[in-house]
Amino acid sequence: MSYVDEVIEMVIKQNPAEDEFHQAVKEVLESLRVVIEENEEEFKKNAILERLVNPERQLKFRVPWVDDNGQVHVNTGYRVQFNSAIGPYKGGLRFHPSVNIGIIKFLGFEQIFKNSLTGLAIGGGKGGSDFDPKGKSDREIMAFCQSFMTELCKYIGADTDVPAGDIGVGGREIGFLYGQYKRIRGLSEGVLTGKALSYGGSLTRTEATGYGLLYFVDEMLRSNGEDIKGKTIVVSGAGNVAIYAIEKAQQLGGKVVTCSDSSGWIYDSEGIDVNLLKEVKEQRRERLTAYAAERDSAEYHEGKGVWTIKCDIALPCATQNELDIDDAKTLVANGVIAVSEGANMPTTIEATEYFLDNGVLFGPGKASNAGGVATSALEMAQNSQRLQWTFEEVDLKLKTIMQNIFHNVDDAAKNYGFEKNYVIGANIAGFEKVVDAMNAQGIV
Ligand code: NDP
Repeated sequence: MSYVDEVIEMVIKQNPAEDEFHQAVKEVLESLRVVIEENEEEFKKNAILERLVNPERQLKFRVPWVDDNGQVHVNTGYRVQFNSAIGPYKGGLRFHPSVNIGIIKFLGFEQIFKNSLTGLAIGGGKGGSDFDPKGKSDREIMAFCQSFMTELCKYIGADTDVPAGDIGVGGREIGFLYGQYKRIRGLSEGVLTGKALSYGGSLTRTEATGYGLLYFVDEMLRSNGEDIKGKTIVVSGAGNVAIYAIEKAQQLGGKVVTCSDSSGWIYDSEGIDVNLLKEVKEQRRERLTAYAAERDSAEYHEGKGVWTIKCDIALPCATQNELDIDDAKTLVANGVIAVSEGANMPTTIEATEYFLDNGVLFGPGKASNAGGVATSALEMAQNSQRLQWTFEEVDLKLKTIMQNIFHNVDDAAKNYGFEKNYVIGANIAGFEKVVDAMNAQGIV
């Protein structure tokens, strides 16, 4: 049995019932096969893959909190500090009822390679809780965040582990988490990113993942003789990533006709009104039915369905495994030319292979959505300097980082004979730097 297969088998055996983690490990290690097999004995002797798939540290803790009626609830908190070879652990916190250790580990594992691709000095980590922020009052959100941070604050710091937002964790939650960290530790430091501008946030961080996705797509299309201008674009999700992906896609001349949330989806023949979407989702915190009610050109449908709409470009920006093989077949039959992931692992392995086999340009999330974490690292740099850069300065750095990521990924794919396979390119380019750093630091 090859070394790669041995490690995949070991991961499945040692981490039972962690399906998403198995999926992420398989996807990465399959891509790395070509690199590992060139020098298998050396990699195996140094147990590089075993060290990569085992987190440096895995924290699980109780989070008790009291609701507005005086009822006590208990949720589970997690932080997985996966790999610090190239810098402090960096990765978001997800608050969603589906959260479990397997999901946090898949996200943390992906984050190692994504962070490496940014070219910045950040290691990989991820955390969160099975807490559901939906329908909770601001006071309940604050109570939960304070309890969560009371435990987490013992393990994080500006030079050790710097969490950020993810699903269910936006500016409001980061504010409550930061306040509690400062209160307990007495430190005003860049321990969290995604902060508001008034207490150390970075301009462009809110927009960064969505904007970065479009900078990546733009570069990928141009390198293949195409252009966003005039293209019909289908987006899933209606959260932070989706909203700013829609905004930048429109600025670049594309027409975005869909968005979705976990209840249903919108088809808007006139193109999504991004200002209305922001008002509904960011300010009023309402469902997409409210968008449809205020817009004549919009149709609302229950359930899942954005991938049935004919388009040139598809951007999954909601959650993992939201685009499966049947969706991929529909998109290809409808003539899609590019798919790029705003969310983490939104495309199943079978669907990804189908796109690649059918000549669709495919941007994997660890490359195409890296703009969020890259801008978080820029926020850390500003915090260390006690300075704030302008929107234009950060946006330009973001754009340059995304263009560089595309070309590093493209070059790595070409070097190993997999031209236009950006999945393999991203995994190899991300892996090489992490392994260099691990080897240089000895057996730790
Ligand atoms: P938000 O919480 O802001 O938005 C998530 C969106 O996805 C919402 O519209 C939500 O609908 C929908 N959604 C969530 N879970 C499901 C589900 N199980 N089924 C269908 N729809 C669902 O999160 P973000 O926009 O920040 O994150 C979206 C994705 O992007 C995630 O995969 C995240 O890991 C990834 N990502 C985020 C980054 C960031 O900077 N924020 C950086 C890189 C990646 P509803 O409101 O109904 O729950």
